[in-house]
Amino acid sequence: MPMAKFDLDSATLRAKYEAGATVAELAREHGCSSFPILLALHKAGTTMRQGLSPTRRRLDVKAEAVVALYAQGWPKNRIAKALSCSSHLVTKLLRQAGVPERPRAKGRVKCRFCAKWVDPKGVASHERMKHADQTLASRVENGEG
Ligand SMILES: [Zn+2]
Repeated sequence: MPMAKFDLDSATLRAKYEAGATVAELAREHGCSSFPILLALHKAGTTMRQGLSPTRRRLDVKAEAVVALYAQGWPKNRIAKALSCSSHLVTKLLRQAGVPERPRAKGRVKCRFCAKWVDPKGVASHERMKHADQTLASRVENGEG
């Protein structure tokens, strides 16, 4: 199966980043993770505003939030995406909090709005369709400037 191809214009990304957009914002805009954005910015020779160290950058990511989401059955990469941090940091925070790692989630994840169990691949669209106003609200809440 071919990989999803991100149509990333590194020059445009660089211009937006230098105009004040955050990597997380650009990632959201392009519907991808921050990783390809960082790669594209790097390719364009962008000087990053903050260090690339995820631990230094993401002081606002709370261990409690990570632990709570993980306990609800969220896979680590989804938690990372929701908090716009790296899954590496999620793993680290879970380890620091003494949460035992479960094997890679094969089963279902719980919708955080109606507590219904949904397919991990379908949970994003489920939340978008069934809980449009809440997802919108939480997006505003988590928005960073
Ligand atoms: Zn739901």
